[in-house]
Amino acid sequence: MTHPALAALRAELADLTLYDDAPSLRMHSRDFFWFSPVLKPDLEGKQAELVVLPRDKAELRRVASACARHRVPVTVRGGGTGNYGQAVPLEGGVVLNMTRLNRIVSTRLGAGRFEAGANMLDIDKAVAPLGQELRMHPSTRAQATIGGFVAGGAAGAGSCTWGQIDNLGAVIAVEVMTVEPEPRLIELRGPDILKVMHAYGVNGIITEVEVPLAPAHDWAERIAIFDTLQKAAEFGQAFTECDGIAKKLVSIHDPRIAPYLRRLAPWLGENKAFAILMVSEPQGDELDRLVAQMGGTVTFARGAAEARAAAFGEHREKGAPGPLYEYTWNHTTLHALKVDPSITYLQLRFPPLRNLELLAWAERHFHEDVLFHIEFQRRQGKVYHSSLPLVRFTTAERLHEIMAQADAAGIQVSNPHSWVLNNAGWKQIDAPQPEFKRLADPLGLMNPGKLLGWEASLDAAAE
Ligand SMILES: Cc1cc2nc3c(=O)[nH]c(=O)nc-3n(C[C@H](O)[C@H](O)[C@H](O)COP(=O)(O)OP(=O)(O)OC[C@H]3O[C@@H](n4cnc5c(N)ncnc54)[C@H](O)[C@@H]3O)c2cc1C
Repeated sequence: MTHPALAALRAELADLTLYDDAPSLRMHSRDFFWFSPVLKPDLEGKQAELVVLPRDKAELRRVASACARHRVPVTVRGGGTGNYGQAVPLEGGVVLNMTRLNRIVSTRLGAGRFEAGANMLDIDKAVAPLGQELRMHPSTRAQATIGGFVAGGAAGAGSCTWGQIDNLGAVIAVEVMTVEPEPRLIELRGPDILKVMHAYGVNGIITEVEVPLAPAHDWAERIAIFDTLQKAAEFGQAFTECDGIAKKLVSIHDPRIAPYLRRLAPWLGENKAFAILMVSEPQGDELDRLVAQMGGTVTFARGAAEARAAAFGEHREKGAPGPLYEYTWNHTTLHALKVDPSITYLQLRFPPLRNLELLAWAERHFHEDVLFHIEFQRRQGKVYHSSLPLVRFTTAERLHEIMAQADAAGIQVSNPHSWVLNNAGWKQIDAPQPEFKRLADPLGLMNPGKLLGWEASLDAAAE
């Protein structure tokens, strides 16, 4: 064991659920960093020395205190579905599995408060009988936790209406436990939430998250095909701008992506661009008319009852695909990698007003090695194109060249091939994050190696 105090820490927590067998350590030390050929070789061997699964806040407090007193690094883990190695313990120590802190704290009309380890699909199942749902969820809803989404995620199904997790109003409150000999609970509200949002768990253990809930719709699904990516994009733009139709997903794809989505093959046509959509069932006809008006053809239509049964894992007709959102966002990369392991991806955002024009440019300019799919987002009244395009990987230099050229053209780039928070680009490190780390993790034990240029307070470390 690398950390000399680990045996003492282990003995102190012996009555908690602990794992230190090789398969558990390996499983808890990985996320989906292997989507990146750049990250993979560097992160493969990194491993925790102990996994702890606290059942409640009292047990969690003991873990946080023990890590602080014994100076053992601690990396928090939700569903472990991050893509940048966020949850990989670079310096060993403890991996803190949060998935047993999964209670619903409270619900009311328009909001719900959940323990951070609550699975997002379980949350949606629990609030469905109340006629409510999470405003947005990543395509990994079935695996991801609400705490992990706040600490490492961005957007997903629902973002075509409700925007991104860091938009004003997307999160009401976050409760954080500090990693100190005497851990404290801190409630963050309003702009203070940004201190821990997308901070990869470097500055406090998120224990509870309160989010607004949306009125649940009966979400029907559609696939529609178009002659070109540009035609599909024009449709996606028009549909997203159409505020009168309630929608949950607008995702359009380059024709060359079709062979990677094998389960959807019967509905994707030959050499056609395609759109994957979720619409409020009573407005499905309206959507179908819009598709036809814009030169498209609906090839797949699934009613809300069947779509929900597929998403909730209740039943699925033979040959029917899983929930359609599991073919969009970064699930597109997952499916592509199953067919062609040399594929990787990038993370781009086309700014509003110029998005269609910039997509047309990017499609032409990077045609050889980049296959675009766009997930539409509506933020603060404007339509953005979010894109996790597939890339036929050749070299890291080429990835950087594409990112630099896209950036120069006015497309916003977040580099998904780095585990360093400072490089993430999605939300550059601003003063409150390191400042809050001084408060919530004064010994610098949380997820070490992810936030560069931060030093533990010498006073705190010497105590
Ligand atoms: C196939 C695929 C598709 C994806 N699609 C999307 C998508 O549509 N949208 C999107 O935003 N992301 C997407 N992701 C990324 C990821 O699934 C989501 O961001 C998800 O919300 C992460 O949640 P998690 O519970 O798995 O977090 P984890 O991976 O466990 O953790 C993420 C980060 O948060 C930290 N963390 C976790 N829990 C806590 C806590 N309680 N307190 C403090 N820190 C914590 C971890 O240390 C880590 O740094 C996708 C990933 C894959 C593999």
